[in-house]
Amino acid sequence: MIDKQNRQINYLRISVTDQCNFRCTYCMPEEGVSCIANEERLTFEEILKICRSGAALGIQKIKITGGEPLVRKDLPVLIKQIKEIPGIDEVTLTTNGFLLADKIEDLVNAGVDRINVSLDTLRNDRFKEITRIDGLDKVLAGIHKAMTYPLKSLKINCLVAKYFNDDELCDLGRLAKFGKVSVRFIELMPIGMGHKLESMSKEKIKFKLEEEFGLLKPYSGKMGNGPAKYYEIEAFKGKIGFISAVSECFCEECNRIRLTADGFLKLCLHSKEGVDLKRLLRAGITQDKLTQVIAEATAKKPVHHHFNDLGINNIEDKIMAQIGG
Ligand code: SAM
Ligand code: SF4
Repeated sequence: MIDKQNRQINYLRISVTDQCNFRCTYCMPEEGVSCIANEERLTFEEILKICRSGAALGIQKIKITGGEPLVRKDLPVLIKQIKEIPGIDEVTLTTNGFLLADKIEDLVNAGVDRINVSLDTLRNDRFKEITRIDGLDKVLAGIHKAMTYPLKSLKINCLVAKYFNDDELCDLGRLAKFGKVSVRFIELMPIGMGHKLESMSKEKIKFKLEEEFGLLKPYSGKMGNGPAKYYEIEAFKGKIGFISAVSECFCEECNRIRLTADGFLKLCLHSKEGVDLKRLLRAGITQDKLTQVIAEATAKKPVHHHFNDLGINNIEDKIMAQIGG
């Protein structure tokens, strides 16, 4: 699918639920947010119908996310069915890792290709403060177990903010030393509770890592489907990546659209523009017509996000767990 900016759109991120077993301070208020009613959540059949239309239009990569995707019952069944759709090359998963040890076997058997685990700290007390759950050991156990499976990649996504976890960057980066995982540092976006923290630039993070580990050499190989920039460190087997959506806007190369758990096709993370596919699905839309609706909507994908602009209308006001991070 090509949009009006001539961008090739081949990547669909699907939020399978807006529910989560964590309450990360930068993502959700402690009391959580009101979740969509069960009957408003897309069924697997509805998600598959959208995936089939997407595949017909050139979607090759699907990311399963949330909320926390592993709290959705029978997720491996969905993954297996998506993998069977002709044209879909890869199904990947982003998770907080809490249920990963229990589910990894089924996920791998279902054919999941890559897994990203979000982990912002290696300190127990801080983990509890950030996620409001006592779960670091379970997440680490999930990562260690996942390392024993032949995934195309296993990555740790670490959100960085000043006075939050910036004293742990080297400890987190060191996880990539032995090569079973790569570590990516994610720039905070001014979304939801993220407004309350102060982001840290890629250059500052890189400087801290270089002080400890030596030169970070740009890596030009392909590492997944997204906008991350990767670096190599001598003596490190895994890579170090950076995703800096605000300070290094990658909208010109954006290849993705998003589906929320209640069936809204979002054209940009940071915009309300899109189309309510659930309404159409439940009104009995045919596969061909659905394909046409997705193609027409995608053509109108916004040119870029507005993180750095003030006073723009139509900006998304949902939190990441509701959008599908
Ligand atoms: N629950 C899963 C997880 O945590 O990996 C998947 C959904 S979560 C919303 C996806 C990612 O969004 C996480 O890595 C999280 O750190 C990130 N995230 C949440 N709020 C953010 C913000 N304001 N800025 C940048 N990333 C954010
Ligand atoms: Fe849940 Fe992920 Fe949001 Fe944390 S970042 S509260 S794990 S959805």
